[in-house]
Amino acid sequence: MRIDLHAHSNISDGTQPPAGLVAAAAAAGLGVLALTDHDSTAGWAEALAAAREHGLGLVPGMEISCKTAEGISVHLLAYLHDPAHPGLLEEITKAKDARLSRAERMVERLAEDYPLNWDDVSAHVAPGATVGRPHIADAMVAAGIVADRSEAFANILTSHSRYFVSHYAPDPVLAVALVRAAGGVPVFAHPVASARGRVVASGIFDDMIDAGLLGLEVDHRDNPPEGREWLRALAAKRGLLVTGSSDYHGAGKPNLLGENLTTPQVLERILAAGTGSPAYLP
Ligand code: AMP
Ligand code: FE
Ligand code: FE
Ligand code: ZN
Repeated sequence: MRIDLHAHSNISDGTQPPAGLVAAAAAAGLGVLALTDHDSTAGWAEALAAAREHGLGLVPGMEISCKTAEGISVHLLAYLHDPAHPGLLEEITKAKDARLSRAERMVERLAEDYPLNWDDVSAHVAPGATVGRPHIADAMVAAGIVADRSEAFANILTSHSRYFVSHYAPDPVLAVALVRAAGGVPVFAHPVASARGRVVASGIFDDMIDAGLLGLEVDHRDNPPEGREWLRALAAKRGLLVTGSSDYHGAGKPNLLGENLTTPQVLERILAAGTGSPAYLP
């Protein structure tokens, strides 16, 4: 059974609608997929209907944007939480709204140097979707400024760029506690992905574990080999689940469905721990 627990649809910054993502997962030979759009569960219903159609297992999830007091970005995967939990919903709504005004400010800055305006960007955002830098990148590709998202992120859109604007995001310790309160399973996404920006110190891992973190996404292409060994040791020491996933974004990233996998034993433990929403298993 091939299990991939991290993938995006166009409800956030993936390029396929939820049903198209599920169809692609079935075609790729996966048995179970988790839909984990950024700060949104709006794709769950469409993905579930498609999963039933294709006989694919579906774990409803989400990837929560977080930021530490020091300003370091942390992504937290949540599986099987109650999407209507008020405290969690309030935080992701704040982050999602802040992402929109942040993207508008980034485009204002970019427009000083590049032929780009907000209409160009919003043309790449599905209605109601969580807006991110990938949508700005898509508009830059369409305008011929860069060849693909990767080139846009290599320099113009990085967090070190003068066009970069930060946005509100909950502290990861708060987010872990809220996911647990919502009956969900919190897993730290690509925790040592240093190429994306600064990674958190071990004290933040401890604080998140103390707040109820249940897993670490170890096998992810952005975690370098030494980092993965450190994560595996931490997981063994603190009794955390170890997951592996693709972080597929459709045509938006080179990541391929199933390029990293999670074991059936770990999936069983996630299913047992998640009480806020059901998984679909054919
Ligand atoms: P944002 O959520 O607006 O801060 O943008 C971060 C998102 O951009 C992440 O969720 C990734 O999916 C995407 N991203 C980061 N680096 C790259 C890259 N090199 N190529 C394509 N997409 C990227
Ligand atoms: Fe993304
Ligand atoms: Fe992420
Ligand atoms: Zn992701």
